Amino acid sequence: MEKSKNKSNWPIIGNSHIFEFLAKSLAKNNVSGSYIFTGPANLGKTTAAHFFAQSLVCEASDGPKRPCGKCSACLQAVRNIHSDIYLIKKEPDKKNISVDQIRDFIRNLSMSSFLNSYKIGIIKGAENLSEGAVNALLKTLEEPKIKVVIILTVTDFEALPKTIISRSQILRFRAVASDIIHDELIKNHKASRSQAKNFSRLSAGRPALALKFMEDKEYYENYKTYVKSFAGLLDSNLNDRFSAIEDILGAEARGQEAVKAAAGIIDIWQNLTRDLMLMELNLADLIQHEAFIKELEALKNKVNLPTGQAGLKAILNLINVLKQSREYLAANVNPKLALENVAVSF
Ligand SMILES: [Zn+2]
Repeated sequence: MEKSKNKSNWPIIGNSHIFEFLAKSLAKNNVSGSYIFTGPANLGKTTAAHFFAQSLVCEASDGPKRPCGKCSACLQAVRNIHSDIYLIKKEPDKKNISVDQIRDFIRNLSMSSFLNSYKIGIIKGAENLSEGAVNALLKTLEEPKIKVVIILTVTDFEALPKTIISRSQILRFRAVASDIIHDELIKNHKASRSQAKNFSRLSAGRPALALKFMEDKEYYENYKTYVKSFAGLLDSNLNDRFSAIEDILGAEARGQEAVKAAAGIIDIWQNLTRDLMLMELNLADLIQHEAFIKELEALKNKVNLPTGQAGLKAILNLINVLKQSREYLAANVNPKLALENVAVSF
């Protein structure tokens, strides 16, 4: 957890050590050909990549003042229409980032810039690159071109091949202390005191998630539904549990979409179970879901072993069941079955 505060026009909460590093390389004209922005989801890695790209194309002459936010390059970058900035990511219905996507990406980066500025390619979620895509990308990284910058964002850079890691500048994003998120939400994002308190805790150190909770009402409503569904799962009869799973997963969710949805739901349930454990250990002041304390208390009364035993052993059993469901998902078990595994275990 970092303690430093935002002083610049850096658009994300926390992780200012990364801003300082990038600003320095820009000022010294010492920009690398490729970067890996690594760290847990929702720390603002993609926003940071866009901000750095904007700094590179900005027309202001003075390094430290870039991005100026006023020149035409900045205005285009902010609207995601700058012709020298490309972003690729895995399409929602696809298994990975394909070799064709990477070839297009490389072709675009190799064309000379219209304004003779930098050309920047951002690969969001580089852990999703297919094997062929990695090989195609490697060739480009082995022969870096002047004024071409590639930024890979990844939640776990160990998942990338060593050949890519060794050719890139690695920047690590860290979780942000919840009091920093709390204060920033009030100061710069018009949060009320209760919003700041709930969302800074709920986001567990991930500022982009705190903002998503605040700004995306539908996202927060869905989150609430998943929290409540967990309690519902433990209380109704088996048939009701199965139809509850159908409801939360969405009847239309198929393929990779359904896998992603199920993984997200199990994630929330795992975090709720972690909170149950903290309550059991009398560490309730550390829980993430303080905003859902009523639901947690109800949940705590329902978590029993098949023998009826409650308490620590029952919670540990739940942790194991959820872990098993995650493993099923990773092993390509049907997402509905992975969730049903939780339903049948009580
Ligand atoms: Zn500018």
